[in-house]
Amino acid sequence: MSGTIACDHSPKILRNIKIPLAKIPNMTHIAEIHVYSKTLPVKNGPYTMAGQEVWELDTTIVQMVDQNGVSGWGEVCPLGTLYAPIHAGGLRSALELFAPAIIGAEVTPRNVVRILNQTLNGHNYARAILDIAVYDLLGKTLNVPVSTLLGGAIQDRVKSYYVLGLKPVESIVELARAKVDEGMRRLQIKIGRPDLAEDIEVIRKVYAEVGTTTSLIADGNRGLSGRDAIQLSQACRDIPITLEQPCDMIETNRSIRSQLCHPLFLDENILDVNMAADAIGQGIVDGFSMKISRLGGLSQFAVFRDLCAARGLPHTVDDGWGGNILAAATIHMASTVSPKYLEAAWLATPYQERGYSPDPLITIKNGYVDVPKGAGLGINPDPAQFGAPILSVG
Ligand SMILES: [Mg+2]
Repeated sequence: MSGTIACDHSPKILRNIKIPLAKIPNMTHIAEIHVYSKTLPVKNGPYTMAGQEVWELDTTIVQMVDQNGVSGWGEVCPLGTLYAPIHAGGLRSALELFAPAIIGAEVTPRNVVRILNQTLNGHNYARAILDIAVYDLLGKTLNVPVSTLLGGAIQDRVKSYYVLGLKPVESIVELARAKVDEGMRRLQIKIGRPDLAEDIEVIRKVYAEVGTTTSLIADGNRGLSGRDAIQLSQACRDIPITLEQPCDMIETNRSIRSQLCHPLFLDENILDVNMAADAIGQGIVDGFSMKISRLGGLSQFAVFRDLCAARGLPHTVDDGWGGNILAAATIHMASTVSPKYLEAAWLATPYQERGYSPDPLITIKNGYVDVPKGAGLGINPDPAQFGAPILSVG
């Protein structure tokens, strides 16, 4: 028996199957999206950590407008080009696909996430900026704070923390004292210097200066070898620090864990909620330092928050950098975390002379930040301050 099977080798465009979305009565729809960029110089720069230093950051801002002209705002600011597998240009390229896809969508985070899932795989940082904006827009539409949409604020102010960069030992000790005198009760000490003995000296001297009044975290930012992480931890076994992301690979952190004398937090290794669940399931973490944008926004961070609560694990609420929009999103999210599990929330504002707007920066007072009041994120930027958009759709 013979015959031929007709094959069509002509190029085809694979189209995603679009599942019809439920129509929600009386919901507004996304009518326009505008993308802006601004430069944020580092005050008294550079900001330093193992493997990199940054003098200024390139932040991306999204204005999401509904058909009534109400604006929601989102922001994501990668910490340079080396900290995470993302950069500002990549973020904006992904937005060129994501933004047109959600024009006309109902203003609900789950609707937007669903459409993003049908548009482009991955690119959590780009998802995050739209997720934050739709939460802000929905909050303003319903006249409730973003924290209410995330399940409700448990605290009206949240503990913050300060990062001590890779600077000379004595200046770090001096800065630690100054920050504790300002009310900070959690300090993160950057480690990962070429000389391991200097890392150990910094930890010992900062602990001697302020260790009885503040909790200390030693963050390696992936910069230590497994051997050095073990030696540092064993050399500081009498000091109650938490060791954060000492080594580059999750396999290395897992392999050294049994030889560490301190609790282990992971940060850069955890790129999504699934990886967090894996790390918890394997029993290799005692907590996390976590960024909203790395997980894909507030929606995914709420899942992560509840996962950590279910397993009794502490975590921070952070982002890489950013101005007032991202700071407000961070504080709203942190306010919904049980104080039992909220380590603290990190803001970039202490490292900025001023933000991208004439509005005052969201500030830290006595080690705490008030949750912004009002609908949505509680801030209302003037689009005129951002200049011409670099992308507009709608
Ligand atoms: Mg970290």
